[in-house]
Amino acid sequence: MSTLLTHIAISDGTIKRSSLEVLSYLRQQADTHGHDAEAVIIDAAASDFVEQVRQYGASKIYTVEDPVFKNHINTPLLKALALVMDKADPYLFAFASTEGTKDILGALAANQDAAVLSDVSAFELTGDGIKATRPVMAAKILSENEARGDKILISVRSGSYEANPKGADGEVVNIDFSIDENEIQATLREIIGASGDKVDLSEAETIVAAGRGTRDEEGQRLVTELASVLNASIGASRALTEAGILDPSLQIGQTGKVVSPRLYIAVGISGAIQHVAGMASSKVIVAINKDPEAPIFDIADYGIVGDLYKVLPPFIEELKNIKR
Ligand SMILES: Cc1cc2nc3c(=O)[nH]c(=O)nc-3n(C[C@H](O)[C@H](O)[C@H](O)COP(=O)(O)OP(=O)(O)OC[C@H]3O[C@@H](n4cnc5c(N)ncnc54)[C@H](O)[C@@H]3O)c2cc1C
Repeated sequence: MSTLLTHIAISDGTIKRSSLEVLSYLRQQADTHGHDAEAVIIDAAASDFVEQVRQYGASKIYTVEDPVFKNHINTPLLKALALVMDKADPYLFAFASTEGTKDILGALAANQDAAVLSDVSAFELTGDGIKATRPVMAAKILSENEARGDKILISVRSGSYEANPKGADGEVVNIDFSIDENEIQATLREIIGASGDKVDLSEAETIVAAGRGTRDEEGQRLVTELASVLNASIGASRALTEAGILDPSLQIGQTGKVVSPRLYIAVGISGAIQHVAGMASSKVIVAINKDPEAPIFDIADYGIVGDLYKVLPPFIEELKNIKR
């Protein structure tokens, strides 16, 4: 029996949904292959999150609690992750594929002499390792990869699996941690928050994405109203962020965020490959575009061919009626 360990990422005092997705899937793999699914929380207030992690079925929960973890700084995080790996001795250590993970995974792999597969969209345990699918070349190609060894690190794209609660009486193990200030060579001076939507788009369940077709004031008003009715986050194509109409933090695509919500509504977006790279793994894609030949319709589950200024008002009204 081996240990499958999940790192629980915390952002702005909340557990990232993508970490719970990874934990749920690891638990399922652990059940199938007769392993243990465990979790680790590294945070300034790690113990506050134990109960929630327990609900997702971790059989053991490691906590590393220290004020230094209030913000993401690589040196203490790397030290804590190495400590946890020494203690838990995981065969597989899985992370949600967040910006923080991208920053640390390579260093941890080098530190632990582990194999690493990053940013995968699916994976499974084989007899002697891990088989994983990685979208590459702006998600135009899905590459099949295998890692073997007695320590494997993996990071998993948000939305790849469902987060399914399953109660368990997970034992809590607190790991002592201390770090000398002199060891931390980097200084975090300032975190500049996004001026746009406060919701992390990569965690959003519903996204209304606006493209060049919505560039005037009325188009933006309709997109905002649709997002508000659906309680959705707003995203954007590069056409709108480049034009300064929406904040760059809202850009979805190859040079923006990678998202996989349950519902993605593309309004006035053509579906250029660079945009599709960031949203193709959305569960249900709805496209509204006046050009029936727009490539976005090739990947849409539902398409509405029409002028968004005529389509959206009755669409929004109908949604409001359903909600009443
Ligand atoms: C290296 C590189 C990286 C890039 N990275 C990204 C990225 O991360 N994200 C990204 O989005 N793009 C990216 N791009 C840009 C990308 O190639 C496209 O130019 C961009 O996605 C187009 O945005 P759009 O679909 O909003 O605009 P357009 O391609 O101009 O499409 C607008 C669509 O709106 C429709 N439309 C217009 N008026 C209406 C109306 N009244 N009603 C209904 N439909 C209407 C049109 O039919 C059209 O299909 C990148 C490009 C490069 C070269």
